[in-house]
Amino acid sequence: MADYDYDLFVIGAGSGGTRASRVAAAHGARVAVAEEYRVGGTCVIRGCVPKKLLIYGAHFAEDLKDAKRFGWQVPDECAFDWPTLRDNVLEEVDRINGAYTQTLENHGVEIIHQRAVVTGPHSVRLADGSEKTAERILVAVGAHPAVPDCPGAEHGITSNEAFHLDAIPKRILIAGAGYIANEFAGIFHQLGAHVTIMNRTQDILRGYDLSIRDRLLQISMMKGLEFKFDATFQQLVKGEDGCLTVHMSNHEPVTVDMVMFATGRVPNTRDLGLEAAGVALDRGAIVVDAQNRSSIDSIFAIGDVTNRIQLTPVAIREGQAFADTFYGNKPTSVDYTNIPSAVFSHPPMAGVGLTESEAKQKLGSIRVYSSDFRPMKNVLAGRNERALYKMVCDGETGRIVGLHMIGPDVPEILQAAAIAVKAGLTKAQFDETVALHPTMAEELVLMK
Ligand code: NDP
Repeated sequence: MADYDYDLFVIGAGSGGTRASRVAAAHGARVAVAEEYRVGGTCVIRGCVPKKLLIYGAHFAEDLKDAKRFGWQVPDECAFDWPTLRDNVLEEVDRINGAYTQTLENHGVEIIHQRAVVTGPHSVRLADGSEKTAERILVAVGAHPAVPDCPGAEHGITSNEAFHLDAIPKRILIAGAGYIANEFAGIFHQLGAHVTIMNRTQDILRGYDLSIRDRLLQISMMKGLEFKFDATFQQLVKGEDGCLTVHMSNHEPVTVDMVMFATGRVPNTRDLGLEAAGVALDRGAIVVDAQNRSSIDSIFAIGDVTNRIQLTPVAIREGQAFADTFYGNKPTSVDYTNIPSAVFSHPPMAGVGLTESEAKQKLGSIRVYSSDFRPMKNVLAGRNERALYKMVCDGETGRIVGLHMIGPDVPEILQAAAIAVKAGLTKAQFDETVALHPTMAEELVLMK
């Protein structure tokens, strides 16, 4: 066997790369991981983790208002200090970054704090010019926010910068209507900003069940968020007062204090040496097979840099499967069916399996059950927000093929229910379980 510097060289220490490195090393492989920024990647440094903490922080705005109806004496205007929340969140990010680094070191993984680019099937070049060789290379470099190509786009921010703002803007326009747009719309709105969402189509959160996203749209509008649909950027003009005027198709210009782009994410494959090494790409994403292998036998890829599902737990599964397959003598491939997902919007939504329209197309005969209710906490708080749970079943067998929810805590509830959906349970089996009263989750076994 050729004499390589390492058994495995991983590029990118995000969620997927860290898992693959750690597990491969635990199986006995000699592993190095190159990271040009910070260990932890998007999820830990500028994604899921700090975002969720901001969501918790923002939710207090409503909780404090609701508290009055529960007898608490809360002033009409509660003061909010953004730097306190921001700095505490960034401190927590530092802590987790440290924990990830420690885990890699404890497993004997060599962390190289430099950018690495692929120079051949078994070689990479580091930023300092040195070359390293490995029997296998794993690319786990993730993705970055896409910014539309329009004049003045440089005046906008992306979610990367949102965690470091000096102040919460009074007015913000968020471009895009997917995960990031709806999650940050909730955060900024709760923290006092007037939020406008603009999207190129009429859909928010394409891919989620129509009834659920319609409910989010309705609640968001009721809260005062504005939507501009069928709108594409024409120009973004910065005024002398620092305000930004957004010119868009089909609508009058909108003037705001900040513009944030949340228009999808692009795989970080640029200038990584992949094309020269012969690695096939599909619109910038690395094409891989079920074993995470690219078109070059010794080069593999996992996570957001591939042409699969851009979710942290999926990248982690892919990293684990890769390490177990090649270093643990345990061939494993990831099952991409029934992957639950959630949008931490305000209120949050979550779903697993087929939407109603997908199920109709795929199965022909389906039965749909739902529960449209006002959570009791909302009733006492005088909050006119209804939750909606929807169950889509195979019309022949009664097997649940999709479960879609919007309302308080639904991501927490769906994670448990997704186990039952994945296990192939039927509506009748759900109904055999006695309701746990009074909860919102009991609606899962009471649907009509
Ligand atoms: P999404 O794919 O969720 O949404 C992108 C939005 O931008 C859509 O509304 C889309 O419009 C619009 N869009 C796409 N391309 C363009 C373009 N060229 N010009 C104008 N508008 C455009 O992407 P996000 O950026 O919100 O998030 C990226 C990924 O990160 C998600 O796909 C998700 O996998 C992951 N993520 C997951 C989270 C979670 O699990 N809770 C949280 C945050 C991110 P349309 O659909 O109408 O065509």
